[in-house]
Amino acid sequence: MTSKKGKFIVFEGIDGSGKGTQIKKLKDYLDRSGIKTLLTCEHTRDLPVGKLIETTLNGGEKIDPLSLQICFTADRRDHYQKVIQPALERGEFVISDRYYGSTVAYTDDKMKQIMLDFNQNIVPGADLTIFLDVDPKMAMKRIGDGRSTKTIFERLETLTKSRNSYLWFCKKMKGDVIVIDGNKDINTIHLNVLKKLKNKKIL
Ligand code: ADP
Repeated sequence: MTSKKGKFIVFEGIDGSGKGTQIKKLKDYLDRSGIKTLLTCEHTRDLPVGKLIETTLNGGEKIDPLSLQICFTADRRDHYQKVIQPALERGEFVISDRYYGSTVAYTDDKMKQIMLDFNQNIVPGADLTIFLDVDPKMAMKRIGDGRSTKTIFERLETLTKSRNSYLWFCKKMKGDVIVIDGNKDINTIHLNVLKKLKNKKIL
């Protein structure tokens, strides 16, 4: 995959961690600074494998969890080649809501390392990945999920498992992933994001 001029920033975090909110604030900041920015997200909705993922998530197709993560990885490579890389070559900033940290976070423990290695071998890494770390209970409150106690319990368990997987991912990625406390208020988090981007000389 060819050389690039722009910067590639990824936001990761469990549902309700505030990724969408922070991405929008960062985009507003970059717009005000005159920096051309492309916002994108996984999975794609208009590329072939992304469409299959969408159908699967909507219950239209049954697929086992690891096969689904392999689909996410195929979609990621296509997304990089067709959307992300061209924007980087035009010198733009690209901000993606999720990238391969999500595959690690949603893969069973025994396959995590393999899926991480697989992804690192087939798609380029981001210039910086920001993991918004929130307490799963806080995330649940934000997304206002679950009507029955059982649903709430199951949801909390899933979010906690994903958060732990993300922490494993952050440890493996060392300095390539910055962990930001996502429990704070929206503006404080935004300022922390800007600070980290400046520290890493991305801004
Ligand atoms: P994600 O994209 O990670 O699922 P969102 O950005 O959609 O998360 O945020 C989920 C909900 O939480 C939204 O209603 C949003 O307004 C709210 N929210 C996001 N960040 C914060 C924050 N720091 N404090 C309080 N509420 C927040």
